[in-house]
Amino acid sequence: MRERVGCGGNAPRSRGGVSSASRAAVIGGGLAGSEAAWQLATRGHQVTLHEMRPVRATPAHKTDRLAELVCSNTFKSTELTNAHGLLKAEMRLLGSLILEAADGSRVAAGSALAVDRDAFAAAVTERIESHPGITVVRDEVSGIAGPCVIATGPLTSDSLADAIRSRLGINALAFYDAIAPIIARESIDDEKVFRASRYGKETMAGADEDGAYLNCPMSREEYDAFLDALVGADQYHGHEFDEVPYFEGCMPVEVMAKRGRDTLRFGPLKPVGLRDPRTGRDAHAVVQLRQEDRAGRMWNVVGFQTRLRIPEQQRVLRMIPGLEAAEFLRYGSIHRNSYLNSPAALSPHLAARDNPTILFAGQITGVEGYTESSATGLLAGINLARIVSGDEPVIPPPTTMLGALYRYMREADPRHFQPMNANFGLVDDLPERIRDKKRRRELIAERALREMRSWIKANDLFSSSTGPAGAHAPARREALFAGDA
Ligand SMILES: Cc1cc2nc3c(=O)[nH]c(=O)nc-3n(C[C@H](O)[C@H](O)[C@H](O)COP(=O)(O)OP(=O)(O)OC[C@H]3O[C@@H](n4cnc5c(N)ncnc54)[C@H](O)[C@@H]3O)c2cc1C
Repeated sequence: MRERVGCGGNAPRSRGGVSSASRAAVIGGGLAGSEAAWQLATRGHQVTLHEMRPVRATPAHKTDRLAELVCSNTFKSTELTNAHGLLKAEMRLLGSLILEAADGSRVAAGSALAVDRDAFAAAVTERIESHPGITVVRDEVSGIAGPCVIATGPLTSDSLADAIRSRLGINALAFYDAIAPIIARESIDDEKVFRASRYGKETMAGADEDGAYLNCPMSREEYDAFLDALVGADQYHGHEFDEVPYFEGCMPVEVMAKRGRDTLRFGPLKPVGLRDPRTGRDAHAVVQLRQEDRAGRMWNVVGFQTRLRIPEQQRVLRMIPGLEAAEFLRYGSIHRNSYLNSPAALSPHLAARDNPTILFAGQITGVEGYTESSATGLLAGINLARIVSGDEPVIPPPTTMLGALYRYMREADPRHFQPMNANFGLVDDLPERIRDKKRRRELIAERALREMRSWIKANDLFSSSTGPAGAHAPARREALFAGDA
């Protein structure tokens, strides 16, 4: 069954500071949708959660449970010096249902939060279905009306994808991602790379006066060795539905390399117009890196979308002169993935620009991964609860991992927008320079949690006008904020 959902009309406003509960829809009962529904319901709102399984299947899900993990069973690290660990710590401060269920179904995996996937999905399903404020409806939604959170994930059904494209613009929704790796600036060897734009032309506003790109020049011997490693490297073979029809712009670099020994030299590695100022000569081949963030801490390896396995990406790309010690902030990948060009199509709180009550959450917004998807579902639930009660939506500061992810989706260059996972390159740097990486991350994490607590308090997110705090019992809240100055 296909349905058009949402209450339509304007959201009820709060009168004289008194909150008004209302009904909202959440579309998609995956990680983001389950978290969003929970956050809305625990703030006193009536929620209809629409999940199309089992009425309509996706190519990856196998059960009818909410929050089914489609592949690996891990939410990655819990350590605060890991970007995923920090994001989870922030989510715990906000009362995440997904993490509560994950804790309850945890299996041994060292410092990673890995779960028994059946127990995990069963726990989320039970909590959602037994909440008196949530009605779960099993249907495929094909239209959009607010107030709602759309969290239909990388495998959004075709009919809803059509509705989203016609609402937000035909180019707003992509069906595949072709992601090149991103390297941390501080791990690039300045002795070997040089700044330049091809023929001095491809500059951009605010770029270094020597040119916009970092260039890694290769000799003939270096190119040959690199090419041999690239064509021989082990690659990931996805599910059948995940096979992407390669076209210009998403051709994996290893596929291009297999077409001929000079194909890359006439493609993304072409050396012309990029004279190395130190030698005065053109190199045999040049790998270019393009700035990914405003602060210039994240650099995208241009044209290197790839299906190589992660250890192979590390091994092969570190053969590129200047990238021997490369720290990967994001690995390359090519997937079937419905995702929005958020910086072009959505507002800062990831809503339709013409209707702030139509919010998006999860992988469809351009975040990548279980934890990131759940985190955006959490914030979308909080924000829709605020909006329908007449409050402004809020976003944590970019010193937090969650705030930094939202900033990326707001400020990334829409011409090159690609999905992003949590990583420290997104977060504001410390004012002082700390050379030791682990110590720097510890300090960034301490600051992030301190500022997340202040932000929660400043916006009264646990007991605000948006309604009763529900899941967040006072004792637990006290514990979360223990030690807070
Ligand atoms: C094959 C595959 C493997 C992956 N492996 C990993 C991994 O190992 N680790 C990782 O971190 N991430 C992985 N991902 C990414 C992963 O999908 C996301 O991280 C996460 O599941 C996204 O959460 P979500 O809530 O946005 O979407 P989902 O969890 O996919 O939930 C979306 C829900 O919306 C429902 N839906 C879709 N359309 C409609 C509609 N029109 N009406 C009603 N309901 C609808 C779907 O049935 C689904 O239940 C993988 C993705 C795929 C496709």
